[in-house]
Amino acid sequence: MADGGETRRPPVVAVDGPAGAGKSTVCREVARRCGLTYLDTGALYRAIGYTALQRGIDPLDDHAMEALCQGLDIEVATAADGTTRVVVDGEDVTTHLRTPEVSLSASRVSARPPVRARLLDLQRRAAARGGVIVDGRDIGTVVLPDADLKIFLTASPEERARRRHQELAAKGDPATYEATLADVIARDAADSGRAIAPLKAAADAVTMDTSDTPFEQVVTRLCARIAAA
Ligand code: C5P
Repeated sequence: MADGGETRRPPVVAVDGPAGAGKSTVCREVARRCGLTYLDTGALYRAIGYTALQRGIDPLDDHAMEALCQGLDIEVATAADGTTRVVVDGEDVTTHLRTPEVSLSASRVSARPPVRARLLDLQRRAAARGGVIVDGRDIGTVVLPDADLKIFLTASPEERARRRHQELAAKGDPATYEATLADVIARDAADSGRAIAPLKAAADAVTMDTSDTPFEQVVTRLCARIAAA
């Protein structure tokens, strides 16, 4: 950091962008190389989505969601491999968070005001000491507007669908490329069109498009920006 010799808090790096742009893979590697802690805020929304499913709570019922959120004890930690682990009411729910059902539920609960309010403070506290790279949709705009560096990591819908389709095919999922692209477009619309904390680049964010840039180059460029921040 260019700090004129004073001791400054280690950097806070905010990374926002649409689903499938490669945020979590890039952030985990950048965290490892730059000695930062990675916080995947999507895991927090997923944890609430998972808990709502488990308890049969309708995400559209704001009263029930508020009661759920207020009563929940949520702890977040970063494992040695960089994974964000979430413990809800004493249960580590991390391994349950990546199913299609939980993705859908996370998307629904993430548009509800009581959920965003509950997670705001938690995310800010997790970032308070600095030395973090935090990824999500509204980190640079809402959660950490004073971040030292804001990145908007994106890729074209076609490229994100191509990557996702490849991942699904590797798992034996028969989804077509066209169906995957339609999903990507629908998720973008839900993330960008919601009333609260919509996905958008902060005015002072640096946009990095990963469509045609190899992973290694994205990581190197981001590390260089962090060193200069
Ligand atoms: O990034 P990921 O796909 O794990 O996010 C899960 C869900 O949480 C998505 O629907 C996304 O829109 C939402 N989310 C959010 N704000 C964040 C991080 C994720 O609304 N900061």
